Amino acid sequence: MKKYQITEWCHHFIKEHVKSGEICVDATAGNGNDTLLLAELVGESGKVYAFDIQEQALKKTRERLEEKGLENRVELVLDSHAEMGERIWEEVSCIVFNFGYLPGGNHFLSTKKESSIKAIEIGLSLLKKGGLMSLCIYSGGDSGFEEKDGILQYLHTLDSKKYLVIVSQYYNRPNNPPIPAMIIKL
Ligand code: SAM
Repeated sequence: MKKYQITEWCHHFIKEHVKSGEICVDATAGNGNDTLLLAELVGESGKVYAFDIQEQALKKTRERLEEKGLENRVELVLDSHAEMGERIWEEVSCIVFNFGYLPGGNHFLSTKKESSIKAIEIGLSLLKKGGLMSLCIYSGGDSGFEEKDGILQYLHTLDSKKYLVIVSQYYNRPNNPPIPAMIIKL
């Protein structure tokens, strides 16, 4: 039985969306789960850019890719996703954000409201028409509420003629459940 944990839920839509040969972005590489999925989906002729501010995260991501022989499809970028616009000049079909901190890593090196919103904004400008942005948003505990509130407020301001924004809820789950959100560029 599928439990549709937040990443499984988002992967469901990403899998449906990304086609062979496309260019995608993992804006928060972390332990490489999303990068790996994107690298599989884009196939040999596609490309994935994977950003993280931590060398440790990119090392782990590289190892995961090498295990599957997929490292040639991915450009690992040791930089903030807020600088995405300086690194990517092509239109992309999917951008994945999984906010928060590296599991097992330093909680202080987590994503932050200002750079996250800047990265979403730049990411939307890179997204092709019909492209998908997937966001896993966390709050409570070490994450606090500032980033979640800021991102949700920002999503609310997006022009409905230009973007379809769907924010989902784990409606009966206690303790600040994660929030999956999807943006489609119209
Ligand atoms: N997608 C990952 C996976 O599949 O394992 C999980 C990502 S983890 C929850 C969040 C990651 O975002 C951490 O590795 C952290 O270093 C990274 N991060 C924090 N601030 C960032 C920024 N400004 N730009 C890019 N990555 C950032």
